[in-house]
Amino acid sequence: MPGFTTRVIHALHDVEKGAVTPPIYPASTFLQPTEGGEGEFEYQRGSNPTRTDAETTLAAVEGSKHAFAFATGMAATGSVLGMLASGDEVIMGLPVYGGNYRWATIELPKRGVTTTFVPDLNQLTEDHFTDSVKMVFLETPTNPTLRVADIRRITDLAHAHGALVVVDNTFLTPYLQRPLELGADLTVQSATKYLGGHGDLLAGVVATNDGDLAATVAQSQVISGGVLSPIDSYRLLQNVKTLGLRLDRQQENTSRIVEALNNHPGVSRVLVPGSFSEDEARIQSEQASGPGAVFAFELADGKDVRKFLAELKVFGFAVSLGGIESLICLPASMTHGAYSAEDRELAQIPDGLLRVAVGIEGAEDLIEDLTRAIDAA
Ligand SMILES: *Cc1c(COP(=O)(O)O)cnc(C)c1O
Repeated sequence: MPGFTTRVIHALHDVEKGAVTPPIYPASTFLQPTEGGEGEFEYQRGSNPTRTDAETTLAAVEGSKHAFAFATGMAATGSVLGMLASGDEVIMGLPVYGGNYRWATIELPKRGVTTTFVPDLNQLTEDHFTDSVKMVFLETPTNPTLRVADIRRITDLAHAHGALVVVDNTFLTPYLQRPLELGADLTVQSATKYLGGHGDLLAGVVATNDGDLAATVAQSQVISGGVLSPIDSYRLLQNVKTLGLRLDRQQENTSRIVEALNNHPGVSRVLVPGSFSEDEARIQSEQASGPGAVFAFELADGKDVRKFLAELKVFGFAVSLGGIESLICLPASMTHGAYSAEDRELAQIPDGLLRVAVGIEGAEDLIEDLTRAIDAA
């Protein structure tokens, strides 16, 4: 089988007129045969040629039978969590992305669905699975603590109890980790992050190999309408072709920065996937082909976080990740601001923890920026 980037670049066949990129179809509606029967496309919310092209490309990225393009990562998550019905229970890792947490704490209760947060999913046992548990929803590595959960073990356990497993794979993307191959039923991703990759596009993806689940997701697109527009579908299918290239560079930069920070006296600890324990390091190396390009760190006692942030010239102080530009944020007050104080404690997100999303700039420039700001803080 051809390699990842070859598959993604050549996912679309029969490009019209010999053009190396597909055309964009902005039409909201499609003329139907008057003699009865249905045209291939009917109305843009249901499906349209450009979104189909994006979804074909995204399925090549995932290595999945089905992929669906949504307007945002949260619309993708919503289509999956929306499968739960009154009386159901979902087991969710903690921490999870702030938006996923909001779904669990604000939206699901309105629907009569309960969420059980489990801070370390590697400790999941038979006892967690009551008859009402219908889904396990997890992120690995976690945001922003970079804890690693064993996808295959969790999937085996969940499937033995008839529960679906959903992995939010935004942090590693299928370039580095393919949860469907490890047994997960569905993956969701914020394509706003690595797949889009340029800080200028909101999008989400749901992927699965299961035909029934795929039909449910397709139906949710029609019902909820949070679909990706043709223009953004086109931009996403183009941007994602460089995913492997970008991530290679982002990972290379990350390993050099992490090494520099680990050796810096102004840094008290650096968190990367697998740094929590030997067990997690083993799981990470078995289920993913790389650590990705997000890490977290804390400044040593006596350093002033705000002063550090003010000194940065290359890193931008902003939420989000996965773009070509390097960003840094304070999860406790920013991305995870929706957390209750208790859950933030349970998730082990200290106020001063800094999350770094490494871009594709020169590694020397990034290291110089961080070390100069740490020294000045
Ligand atoms: C950003 C993000 C989301 C939400 O995606 P949007 O495109 O912002 O709606 C979901 N999960 C993770 C892990 C994220 O980082």
